[in-house]
Amino acid sequence: MTALSRRPSNDPHRKGWRVFYGDVQIGHIGERAGVPIDVDQWGWSLSFYPGTEPDDGAGGTGATFEECRAAFERAWEELRPKLTEENFEVWRRERDRTAWKYRMHDLGLPMPTQTTTGWSKCFCGADIPISCEEHIHTVHRGIGE
Ligand SMILES: [Zn+2]
Repeated sequence: MTALSRRPSNDPHRKGWRVFYGDVQIGHIGERAGVPIDVDQWGWSLSFYPGTEPDDGAGGTGATFEECRAAFERAWEELRPKLTEENFEVWRRERDRTAWKYRMHDLGLPMPTQTTTGWSKCFCGADIPISCEEHIHTVHRGIGE
């Protein structure tokens, strides 16, 4: 069984962790911003989008990171059996598609939708049509990792 792992949050101003199942980010545990000192200082949320619906997710608060982590893991044990590989695949494709688009943009390359012909050139040199999902998925799989 794939274990959960965590990486520091992207936000340098708040203590927190992004939680991963394999290569898929399934949630977050972190300090809550701007809450009074007499309430729970930590919060957690379990969900990923696209791939799951908002109703599939869960979340809560706790006094400590450890408390939140325990609640997160309990929620994950409930959700995990309901998920299929397809759920994770939807998320990975979106992650890679987004990273690919940023790379195209950073390199100043037009998207196929921005040309009069409906075709453009990928940074790898391939000619790509408007529906280039398959190109991204096969040639640039994992670009967003
Ligand atoms: Zn390419």
